[in-house]
Amino acid sequence: MTSPGPGAELPEGGRHDLRHGLSPDAPETEGYSDSEGAFGYVHSYETGSRLDGPGVRVTLFVSGCPLRCQYCHNPDTWHLKDGTRVAVEQVVARLGHFAPALRAMNGGLTISGGEALVQVAFTHRIFAAARSMGLHTALDTSGYLEARATDDYLKSVDLVLLDIKAGDPETYRRVTQRDLEPTLRFAERLAAMDKPVWVRYVLVPGLTDAPADIDRVAKLVAPMRNVEWVEVLPFHQLGAFKWKHLGLAYALGDSPPASPELVARVLGRFRDTGCNAR
Ligand code: SF4
Repeated sequence: MTSPGPGAELPEGGRHDLRHGLSPDAPETEGYSDSEGAFGYVHSYETGSRLDGPGVRVTLFVSGCPLRCQYCHNPDTWHLKDGTRVAVEQVVARLGHFAPALRAMNGGLTISGGEALVQVAFTHRIFAAARSMGLHTALDTSGYLEARATDDYLKSVDLVLLDIKAGDPETYRRVTQRDLEPTLRFAERLAAMDKPVWVRYVLVPGLTDAPADIDRVAKLVAPMRNVEWVEVLPFHQLGAFKWKHLGLAYALGDSPPASPELVARVLGRFRDTGCNAR
């Protein structure tokens, strides 16, 4: 059952804010798929981001994610119940406010999460509206729900930030508790349609830094001409406080951040395999 009423204010803030229990009547995330997208559940939005695509961007963090990554920085986006229910018109109106500045700074809109494809109709409507404002659009996704990203959906997306969390199915399951296969299928599909992609790889010492794992991702991606960048994102502990607050067991409490030497070594492996990596 969805919450009644017109929807709340779109919450400004950002990825490091903690959001919890804001929509207790929201449906369970597991199996949820919206049909009209008139309303959606949102963690927050951030302005001025240079991390989530080209130029300066507004990044919208939507709620709901089927993965359970050990290193998740935003476990407060896993459940729709933790987000704020807002009307799509309100998101679009807020975006319209920023649109002239975003266009001037060669930026646009990125939808991240959580997993944007949980609320596929809602995010499709926002992407389509962004496009009609002349904004560049980017979808940040794990690809796990790739079957929901129809060709029509992808027409409203200029760039996919594809998080490949491991190249080995067993490691992927250990990291995310889910199967790698849909992500690989999505990568192949995006390559076949020549959709621009930046692959993102979160580097966690002792978890995702095995040379064989990295080589698997590199070899998959290197021949894909649509992949413009592989971005190696060093693991950090900035999300640890959220796990604690939510009462979740955090397995990486003792994991050190990825050192500059490790990052350089991994970047070297990607580059040696023929990827543009940074
Ligand atoms: S896909 Fe992203 S939001 Fe979902 S659990 Fe993994 S890191 Fe967290």
